[in-house]
Amino acid sequence: MSKLTWIEDELANLREQGLFTNIRTLSSPQGAWLEVDGRRVLNFCANNYLGLANHPQLRDAAKAAIDRMGIGPAAVRTIAGTTNLHLQLEKRLATFKGVEAALTFQSGFNANIATIPALVGKGDVIFSDQLNHASIIDGCRLSRAQIVAYAHNDTDDLRRKIAETTEYGRRIIITDGVFSMDGDIAPLPALYEVAAEHDILLMVDDAHGEGVLGKGGRGIVDHFDLHGKVDIEVGTMSKAFGVVGGIVAGRQILVDWLKQRARPFLFSSAMTIPDVAACLAAVDLLESSTELVDRLWSNARLFREGLAGLGFNTGHSQTPIVPVMLGEAPLAQQFSKRLFEEGVFAMAIGFPTVPQGKARIRVMNSAAHTPEDLETALAAFERVGKELGVV
Ligand SMILES: *Cc1c(COP(=O)(O)O)cnc(C)c1O
Repeated sequence: MSKLTWIEDELANLREQGLFTNIRTLSSPQGAWLEVDGRRVLNFCANNYLGLANHPQLRDAAKAAIDRMGIGPAAVRTIAGTTNLHLQLEKRLATFKGVEAALTFQSGFNANIATIPALVGKGDVIFSDQLNHASIIDGCRLSRAQIVAYAHNDTDDLRRKIAETTEYGRRIIITDGVFSMDGDIAPLPALYEVAAEHDILLMVDDAHGEGVLGKGGRGIVDHFDLHGKVDIEVGTMSKAFGVVGGIVAGRQILVDWLKQRARPFLFSSAMTIPDVAACLAAVDLLESSTELVDRLWSNARLFREGLAGLGFNTGHSQTPIVPVMLGEAPLAQQFSKRLFEEGVFAMAIGFPTVPQGKARIRVMNSAAHTPEDLETALAAFERVGKELGVV
């Protein structure tokens, strides 16, 4: 008997329960339209909010940087040195977000598992929104601090949990900025009040807000005009920025400390040269015009209103993420499958990612969609919705 037989059993279990994830194969770049498993379909799955994943300016910047600087960083930054391009990106991101300093990581996931254990440890306490992203949860676990989950977006519950937790060293409150399953936004001004009252560090992970919320996509802190009040902003360049990479933004001393203590900074190689150059081009684009961000929001409004007009329940999203609430997981699966046959690629999400009975199609809007694309997709939703008795 093989030592790996148990994996076969587990995989069989997943398949039986309908929980096995099949990954579609793309043979086109990311964009409004994709070629998926050989079919041309309209794309409502990606976090490519601004259509930058295949933007000519980003492509050109990456190619030019490769010609000048090559590709790989060749080791971690503390050992092989860091390129001026990396430093330039960090400076530009800090300016863009209106903070003293920023530090890049290989991904948003890494930014979280880098930052949290560098700030709290054994004997400290983390107050964490119960719906926080997996990378925050893993960062919290790695820190070995006590983790106290509070009810989603519920500052009254947070206050209760703070009052109940009487033994602590350092304390930190951590929240997602935008919660990616419902598209709702953390009540950051109220969280700031709680943090300030009790002198607790405040950290927000703005992965779905970077390039989406705030003036020209400057993020959730700008959206709520809380500049200088949130201690740690984590973000990603893998979503609206259309590339890959993580960032941490805040005070200069925070960045200085992370460069000394953050393990994914010290023990994992930096972003590649073309990634960094493409991110710089993304910052250029965002700083030069709010056009893409404006189009993203107007597309999202059109699509949400269109769906609601057809009789769909679109939940309580406040962002371009639009959940189409369907109830049970098999219905959502069937809906997604029929949409795909109708030429629309939109993901079904069910338990355990969302609670039982709250299965949905999650529609990710993008500035890349044209008005015709939205009409085409709405017509497909209407056909499938009627066929399956949803509307
Ligand atoms: C997507 C996401 C991440 C991970 O970002 P990557 O750059 O893809 O690693 C982290 N946190 C939140 C809240 C996210 O939504």
